[in-house]
Amino acid sequence: MIPEPFEYHVPKTLEEAAQLVAQFGDDGKVLAGGHSLVPMMKLRLASPRHLVDIARLDGLRYINEKDGHIEVGALTTHYQIESSGLLKEKCPLLPLTAQEIGDVQVRNKGTLGGSMVHADPAADWPATAMALGAEVKAVSTSGERWIPASEFFLDLMTTSLSPGEIVTAIRFPALPARSGDAYAKHAHPASGFAVVGVAARVTLDENGHVESGRVGVTGIAQAAYRAAEVEKAISGKAATARNLERAASHVADGIEANGDLYASAEYRVHLATVYTERALAAAAQRAAGH
Ligand code: FAD
Repeated sequence: MIPEPFEYHVPKTLEEAAQLVAQFGDDGKVLAGGHSLVPMMKLRLASPRHLVDIARLDGLRYINEKDGHIEVGALTTHYQIESSGLLKEKCPLLPLTAQEIGDVQVRNKGTLGGSMVHADPAADWPATAMALGAEVKAVSTSGERWIPASEFFLDLMTTSLSPGEIVTAIRFPALPARSGDAYAKHAHPASGFAVVGVAARVTLDENGHVESGRVGVTGIAQAAYRAAEVEKAISGKAATARNLERAASHVADGIEANGDLYASAEYRVHLATVYTERALAAAAQRAAGH
């Protein structure tokens, strides 16, 4: 339970942090909330020789609304998102997701950016990022770029972030008119992580039919994914229980589900189907103003 020795660096600016991360390459790691990295270091599953602690870069802790988008700084904690009045009104899926993460201590320390980069297959944020088509801002000494969530999560704990890049923000589309958000999760009773987590945003047309349904799923596969077949199946339909159930039955189409001691692959697919139906139903009800 004792990590390998490492050198600890506390940059005062983002530029300094980017220089350190570029200098150390694979020997260095960014430290944010430490709620995933520190346990991994204690178990010696990660042994960086240099830790670059960005937690004091307060400029990376913010929630803004700009041009129909919500931008959240990478160091914003789960609790800050959960308790944001702006987000409850403009992008409710973010507080709905945050409130499902771990316990209050975890939510007070853990950050949105850290969770996205860690890319745990049972983490909650990746489902929401996939459902909303979020974009991740990555900064390095050679510049900055926005990476779509669909190109960010590659595999188990693997993202498309390049060595030397620091995530500084994540951008989400705000809630359009006639729309509702929901997050439905079956939490592991011991760890609190998602056995299955389903994020949904439903937009209704003027006749009350589903104009678009966006669904992101975490917990059942190596990486979070967007359930495109569910989205196709519900589009243009009335949000009746029968139609939602039919659409939800496609949630694992083309997906190789994980199984473990707690939940077999077959049980996870069953849970994903039930939780997709629940998330779609709750989002559709909110979209209809109920
Ligand atoms: P850190 O641990 O500091 O870093 C994680 C990884 O991301 C490291 O590889 C680090 O180098 C990298 N990194 C961090 N920030 C950046 C950045 N800005 N740019 C580039 N790289 C970066 N999560 C859930 O989703 N759902 C749960 O139910 C849940 N339950 C939990 C219960 C417990 C008891 C604990 C300890 C954790 C739980 N978590 C859960 C994880 C928690 O959400 C962590 O906050 C999150 O996984 C990592 O965020 P962090 O800020 O602590 O990152």
